[in-house]
Amino acid sequence: MSAVQALCTERGVLFIVDEIQTGLCRTGSMFASDRYAISPDILCLAKALGGGVPIGAVLTSERVAPAVGMHGSTFGGNPLACAAALATIDYMQEHTLDRRAHELGDYFAERFREKQPARVRELRQIGLMIGIELKEKATPYLVALMEEGVLALSAGPTVIRLLPPLTVGRDQLDVVIDKLLKVLSA
Ligand SMILES: *Cc1c(COP(=O)(O)O)cnc(C)c1O
Repeated sequence: MSAVQALCTERGVLFIVDEIQTGLCRTGSMFASDRYAISPDILCLAKALGGGVPIGAVLTSERVAPAVGMHGSTFGGNPLACAAALATIDYMQEHTLDRRAHELGDYFAERFREKQPARVRELRQIGLMIGIELKEKATPYLVALMEEGVLALSAGPTVIRLLPPLTVGRDQLDVVIDKLLKVLSA
């Protein structure tokens, strides 16, 4: 990541970090980029930002802000959405959802790896951002999971993607792990 930033600086290219999916505690820190010694020119946020109310945000460094100028849009700065975002960030900080994602993610990985089914190539996990790469297509297992009451999407043809709510309970996670192990071992 530092090398990418250095290359951007060298070529005069803006360094834009998209944290729409990885940001806001998902990976065990407020931003996934916190774990690298980088300072993006622009950082994008959305999804979890409003806690369910639609909102996106573009953060800029002071250096590039004047060049970006006013970024207007029809619903930009919507008071309801902004209030939801402020309340969501307060909740995340009060309940230390970053630490929670870190702990629950590690818990998930530990329990999954104990009984990792043979058709799994690799479990990739950082906080509560989880990818289970299979040695075969994921779709039949996504369907089987759905029949067990677990809704998951794929990320590419062979990866089961799990992005549970950061407020998920350990007991709920246990149910998901048990069903995953059952479906993937069948
Ligand atoms: C969902 C997503 C987007 C699109 O965000 P919108 O707010 O729907 O425009 C962009 N980047 C990543 C990484 C996403 O996950």
